[in-house]
Amino acid sequence: MEVTDIQVEGYEKVVRCKDAKSGLHALIAVHDTTLGPSLGGMRMWPYESEDEALFDVLRLSRGMTRKSAVSETGLGGGKSVIIGDPKTIKSPELFRAMGRFIEGLEGKYITAEDMNIGIPDLEIVKEETRWVTGLSRKSGSSGNPSPYTAMGCMFGLEAVAEELFGDRSLKGKRILIQGIGAVGGRLAELLHETGAHVIICDINDKRIAEMAEKYGMEVVDDENHLDVECDIYAPCARGAGINDETIPQLKCKAVAGCANNQLLEGRHAQVLRDKGILYAPDFVLNAGGIINVSVELLPGGYNEEAAMERIRRIYDNLKQVFEISRADGIPTSDAAIRLADNRIEAARAAQSAGA
Ligand code: NAD
Repeated sequence: MEVTDIQVEGYEKVVRCKDAKSGLHALIAVHDTTLGPSLGGMRMWPYESEDEALFDVLRLSRGMTRKSAVSETGLGGGKSVIIGDPKTIKSPELFRAMGRFIEGLEGKYITAEDMNIGIPDLEIVKEETRWVTGLSRKSGSSGNPSPYTAMGCMFGLEAVAEELFGDRSLKGKRILIQGIGAVGGRLAELLHETGAHVIICDINDKRIAEMAEKYGMEVVDDENHLDVECDIYAPCARGAGINDETIPQLKCKAVAGCANNQLLEGRHAQVLRDKGILYAPDFVLNAGGIINVSVELLPGGYNEEAAMERIRRIYDNLKQVFEISRADGIPTSDAAIRLADNRIEAARAAQSAGA
């Protein structure tokens, strides 16, 4: 197994692993560990080149630093990517090699699920390293993060309602959810229980039919869903849905959902602001899952009550973001980055004062 460092400015450690025997070609980026060991999912993707994989792992690990800082998980940001087609390259040998690669970083990087990586894959990784989180509840781990992501989003939506209407109650509010999968589906249920008027769309007709029948939710066609007038639009399907083409169509007062990287480009936060639409930055709103996972690493291990107490703070985090945005006259996404960077800077200053 050949492990080599890649020097990248602004990153604590970036490493490449090539293992001829198992076919593993992977990268790990540890962006920043000021606030704690870096945690971020393991992604498998058929990247065209190592450069493309490097670009992704750098971008994603930096995002994890901010997400963890803003949600005060006590963790830093990291990420790993395995280069290859998940349909063909997966094998126990490959995941064991990945486990040894992670173990070599001695806890500086802690892994979890991400795109194309499931619990069975991570169980094999765990045979070689203890730095794996998000496994089954039965094994003492924190289990499926999706319901906690949905719960965190609910608390965040209360902060959005308060900002829009001066009252955090979601009762009677029209909330349009695109994508009712693991996160959006649970969010729809939670909102329905609170008395919100939930409108759903998805490309999966079967799933839509199930939810509509079970809860009597209003259904709209995914292709025309942007025509729907609503208080809050919650994208919970895929990224980049907020862009030059879609923003003029929006008929909502706020965009606040769980999908990662909702804005196609950073400048779209300003475009939303100019249109008078409040944007709840995705990495603040969808942090419930990582907060839940982070509780595994506390002394004494996972505890749902401790997780919920921390997940509730998404409401406060989002309120702080809105305050910074107002006070500094900047888009909410920039305000969220400022909040994260301020927390990292404060910790850095405290560490050097104590050193
Ligand atoms: P999922 O695959 O369970 O659900 C996605 C749903 O969106 C599916 O029902 C799918 O049919 C639907 N969908 C896909 N493309 C669509 C389209 N073009 N139009 C309408 N519907 C479409 O995924 P998930 O775990 O619920 O994650 C949803 C989003 O939330 C992703 O962007 C993910 O990165 C983000 N996220 C998830 C978590 C988590 O804990 N699962 C945490 C943070 C962020």
